[in-house]
Amino acid sequence: MRAKALVLLIGAALLAGAVALVLALDPRPPFADLPFALPWFALIPAYVATSRFTIDFEFRKEARSITLSQLPLAIGVVFLGPVWHLASRVTAELISTVALRRQPPMKVLFNVGNSAIELALASAAIALLPTQLMPGPVIWAALLTGLLVNDVVAHAAFMTVMRILGVPLSRGAKLAPLAFASASTLVFTSLAMVSIAAIWTDPWTLLIIALVAAGLSFAYRGHRRVSARQQATEHLYEFVKDLGAVDVHGTRADAVLEQVRVLLHARTLDLALSDDARLSWQHYVSREDGPLRRFTTDSSGLSRAEAGTAAHGNDRMSAPLLGSHGVIGLLTVIDRLGAVRAFDIGDVRLLETVANELTAALERGRLLCDLERSATTDALTGLPNLNNITARIDELLLGGDELVVAAVAVDSFREVNDTLGHQVGDDLLLEVARRLRLCLPDGCIGRIGGGRFAIAVPSDSVGNDAAMFGLGLRAQVEGGAQLGAVGTHIRLSVGAVTAPEHGAEAATLIRRAETAMYSARHAQGGPVIWEPAYEVQGQRRLAVVTALREALSSGAIGVAFQPKVDARTGQVMGVEALARWTHPALGSIGPDEFIPLAEASGLMRPLTTTVLRQALTACKGWQRRGGRIGVAVNVSADTVLDPNFVTEVAALLTAVNLSPDLLTLELTEGVLVDDPGLATERMAELRAHGVKLSVDDFGTGYSSLTYLKGLPIDEVKIDKGFVDAVVSDAADRAVVRAVVDIAHTLGLRVVAEGVEQDEQRRVLHELGVDELQGYLHARPMPALEMAAWLRGRDAAVSV
Ligand code: C2E
Ligand code: CA
Ligand code: CA
Repeated sequence: MRAKALVLLIGAALLAGAVALVLALDPRPPFADLPFALPWFALIPAYVATSRFTIDFEFRKEARSITLSQLPLAIGVVFLGPVWHLASRVTAELISTVALRRQPPMKVLFNVGNSAIELALASAAIALLPTQLMPGPVIWAALLTGLLVNDVVAHAAFMTVMRILGVPLSRGAKLAPLAFASASTLVFTSLAMVSIAAIWTDPWTLLIIALVAAGLSFAYRGHRRVSARQQATEHLYEFVKDLGAVDVHGTRADAVLEQVRVLLHARTLDLALSDDARLSWQHYVSREDGPLRRFTTDSSGLSRAEAGTAAHGNDRMSAPLLGSHGVIGLLTVIDRLGAVRAFDIGDVRLLETVANELTAALERGRLLCDLERSATTDALTGLPNLNNITARIDELLLGGDELVVAAVAVDSFREVNDTLGHQVGDDLLLEVARRLRLCLPDGCIGRIGGGRFAIAVPSDSVGNDAAMFGLGLRAQVEGGAQLGAVGTHIRLSVGAVTAPEHGAEAATLIRRAETAMYSARHAQGGPVIWEPAYEVQGQRRLAVVTALREALSSGAIGVAFQPKVDARTGQVMGVEALARWTHPALGSIGPDEFIPLAEASGLMRPLTTTVLRQALTACKGWQRRGGRIGVAVNVSADTVLDPNFVTEVAALLTAVNLSPDLLTLELTEGVLVDDPGLATERMAELRAHGVKLSVDDFGTGYSSLTYLKGLPIDEVKIDKGFVDAVVSDAADRAVVRAVVDIAHTLGLRVVAEGVEQDEQRRVLHELGVDELQGYLHARPMPALEMAAWLRGRDAAVSV
């Protein structure tokens, strides 16, 4: 407020000074012998016109503009008395500042004061000359001096005002305007002198001068328009170059839209983007004065988006944003900046270009958004994925929260997927995800793979009891579910950890919760809370896998053999080869431990090869000594499905020179889970080579007896589980009897494994089992021991 008052004061002082100076001068025109009398108002239109018309320069990299007002000024100083001249000057200045440019009073007074003092100084300079002089170099020099003095005064006033207003100016900006003004004063005073000389001899020249000036200004305007367009193209190029991808929700959106608005010379810009369904429009409005504004409207007002680029009236224009799938939005600019003119056809083209570039950038932005979403979100459930949930939990931990982190597995997920198809599997996961979200509306839930989820909640929200939380979760999520046409029962395994007690990092916490979850699944019990012992197990697993890899390459895996005997005669019918491994440091490690690890770490193929080779070699050895004893080798599911396996078996048989019918491959029902068709095909191929096939652990899988019918097999091995209870449990006896009946109908032999007691042998024999295997007859033993055992056994096998 004080600053404005000061500026007003300076303006008033300049005006007052000018008036005082002019009043002190002779009121008559300076030259007595003027060829004609100019009416006082004649120069008003010239002043107004020249102040409206500015010439823009770039001077020392800064934009400067000058007016041609020194032209009428020089004429007025020569042809009018100073008082009347001042009156016409002030009138003209008021017309252009108040009526035409609507400047605020502060600016009006300052500008009036400035032009008045200019006039007064020029008049004073002329008045100092001896009168009666014809226009000539002396007048020219006087006029120039007066105007140069004025330049200094005006500059001083300008600098003072800038200081008062607190506008910071660089060193260059302080002196450059003065130098520039002086130079232009020199040029225009010279021009004015030429005009004055011409007018002196013929007043009508004034008209010609006016016409020439109008023509020049017209040409200049045209030139300026072209160069402005060139500049716009350059700006557009710069804009496009660093446009990249725009995400309207991102922070850069403000800056980009601001840039677009400036590029289009608009006071206001409205970018309306449609949602996918085109039901509503999201507006982003950038204004010259103020931050980006966002709001939503319904579709009714924007049907014109489809209509194409259009200039509405003379103050706004719009262009549709034509994306690859139709109109995605409408770009509208309102009020052209610079007031000189309204939007024209050139602006419309610029708008179209900008709209196209913006569309491309927005589509790139959307693509990036989608990519980012798919990198952080599980596509099926829309829940955060492993990376994302890990990051979120880490964030909570950084905030110092005490958390319960749970890992949840859908128990029957794999089975549902395998037997009922992926569609039902997906439905199952969606249903579980829905229920989890329902019972933890603001919990941190993510899908971490397969049928597994991770959940984090603040400890105090669950009473600091991870086990209770797990139980509650199960209670709320488990239960019947209808998945399309399929009814099923959802069951969960839950493992949990607490943070920071069980770990400081999300990755550790999730891993430990999963370990606990697997343990819960194994035990088929309630939720399991992680404990350090699990880690030791994990470390052992790692150590065992590493050692197993070494053992396989160094040939440290051996094989033991266990005989199968005829249930009726006790005659040895064959042997089963079982992998054996004694590690120098870890001691003897059982197949129950290392076989699953080999399966999980891709070591099954080399393991099978070494067992197979040792088994076939041993078999060949016994044969050489006259014993025709078949050997059975266990083969896991993946191995059977491997197309190279058939070739390998055939090659090994050839290498050892052994009849294929001496080899039996024992497969479990698991082989058939993923792709029964393919498995059956592979089995048929093996059998076509003369190899026999046996179904191991029969009765533990989920297949029914009837599936035996279609399989290319020779033998069924009833699992030890049934043998254990065959004496005491009538139901198990019934199962064994049914298996025997069906197998015999299909022409298959039935073997019972794990026979430890004579009573079991008797019952199994009665039930019709063909062969028996178990500690009752012999424990698994090394090849040499096996040979000795066979020799001492019976005469039927003359080894
Ligand atoms: P499996 O094929 O069911 O083998 C029979 C298992 O029962 C053997 O355990 C054997 O030592 C044991 N056993 C035999 N008779 C009796 C008995 O009367 N009482 C008791 N309690 N157990 C008896 P092992 O050698 O520990 O093998 C365990 C499992 O490891 C095998 O079960 C088999 O599934 C797998 N396995 C062993 N060697 C190999 C192999 O070379 N390849 C593959 N893929 N799996 C193998
Ligand atoms: Ca077996
Ligand atoms: Ca078995």
